[in-house]
Amino acid sequence: MVLNRAMALRVVNPATEETIAELEPAGIEETDAAVAAARAAFPAWRAVMPADRARLLRRLAALIEEHGEELAVLETRNVGKPISDSRAEVAMVADVFHFYAGAVDKHFGETIPVAAGVDLTFREPLGVVGLIVPWNFPIAISSWKLGPALACGNTVVLKPAELTPLTAVRLGKLALEAGLPEGVVNVVAGPGNVVGRRLVEHPDVAKIGFTGSTEVGRSVMEGAAATIKRVTLELGGKSANVVFADADLERAAALAPAAVFGNAGQDCCARSRILVERSAYDRFLDLLVDATRAFSLGDPEDDATQMGPLISAAHRDRVSSYVDGDAIFAGDTPAAPGFWFPCTIVEASNDDRVAREEVFGPVAAVIPFEDEADAIRIANDTPYGLSGSIWTENGARALRVARGLETGVLSVNANTSVRVQTPFGGFKQSGFGRELGMHALEGYSEVKNVFIAT
Ligand code: NAD
Repeated sequence: MVLNRAMALRVVNPATEETIAELEPAGIEETDAAVAAARAAFPAWRAVMPADRARLLRRLAALIEEHGEELAVLETRNVGKPISDSRAEVAMVADVFHFYAGAVDKHFGETIPVAAGVDLTFREPLGVVGLIVPWNFPIAISSWKLGPALACGNTVVLKPAELTPLTAVRLGKLALEAGLPEGVVNVVAGPGNVVGRRLVEHPDVAKIGFTGSTEVGRSVMEGAAATIKRVTLELGGKSANVVFADADLERAAALAPAAVFGNAGQDCCARSRILVERSAYDRFLDLLVDATRAFSLGDPEDDATQMGPLISAAHRDRVSSYVDGDAIFAGDTPAAPGFWFPCTIVEASNDDRVAREEVFGPVAAVIPFEDEADAIRIANDTPYGLSGSIWTENGARALRVARGLETGVLSVNANTSVRVQTPFGGFKQSGFGRELGMHALEGYSEVKNVFIAT
């Protein structure tokens, strides 16, 4: 974000450095107005029968599908991510709304056998929820929060990141077009330390669903304490890609670049520490360098591109501070304009800064390990615990290591972390609460227990 003197929110295409939109940024007043609108809309929205809410969410999903290409191009121009990634993410957004449309009338209370009466539980919405999202997967992460929040009968104020407000604003308009009543979905684009903080502190906001850095997540948790707000925190990561000597090394190496350089490494799930068993280390490193050389960097609007630029010049400076010249591989980048940074591989110890901190750029730290116990020790030696992969042909070992790793999401012989149907979230300082799947509904509803004496 660049706030000029007129305080416009200038939105830039990171691949061309061109301004693609200017928005009037929201401040406290607009945030309060959005919360008031959401509050006013809440009683009627919570009273809509779940099956009718489902119909509206299904209509929103259909509109997203209809506008899929438009949304994907908008996301690519704003974030610099490859168009093939944006298309997949927008398709997922539609699936998220389909999923929660299907879930909404299947998420209900219980009757519990007790003495002298009947005991019932109800699933109640929380009220107005504030949804704060980062710039790396703007529309996807917005949907992960909107889907379950709306399904449970909450009204929302969505705050996109300053750098990437465009698809969130468009999504808000599509929600209205789908027939969601005025005030149910409000989108407020403005600075995090103004709009975001106001949402966190606002007495009429019942919950904050936050995705972003661990540092800001900490301040969200502190700010929410004053009003005992519920919070879900999806924060940073420093995940391990653990490669055993008995793995299919060719396949593991072929897929490793996407796991760390995908989205230009600006991915909370990036497997940015590649742990390799010592006996396969040299062979794997050769394969990894070859696979990285083939990872195509370039125009994000080209169908064949696998990696675009970083989000901003300031972020590129930050990422480059982690590479002090002794990379064993650094790829080529297109010429300026654009905030380009090459795919970079460094050999590291787990104590090095590049292995301890979330770089959030295309930098892979490769670290050798001796045996299974050593792999688990190194993988867990981090304050984070979000994601990770295990590569081995030994099923029992895969399960042993999976149980040993302190992380919320894992894949065996695969790279993927996120599926619409399955819970996603962190251990340790990667946050708490789960998004996606049926688990997300827990975070957007409250259980009420009622005893009726008979
Ligand atoms: P960030 O923490 O800087 O910002 C995230 C959001 O919080 C933005 O909308 C920002 O405007 C807002 N914000 C900033 N200050 C605030 C404040 N004081 N109060 C309330 N809101 C405030 O993160 P970012 O740079 O946009 O995104 C990158 C980070 O997000 C990385 O650390 C990444 O790992 C993390 N992330 C986590 C997940 C996950 O699911 N765990 C997913 C994507 C990104």
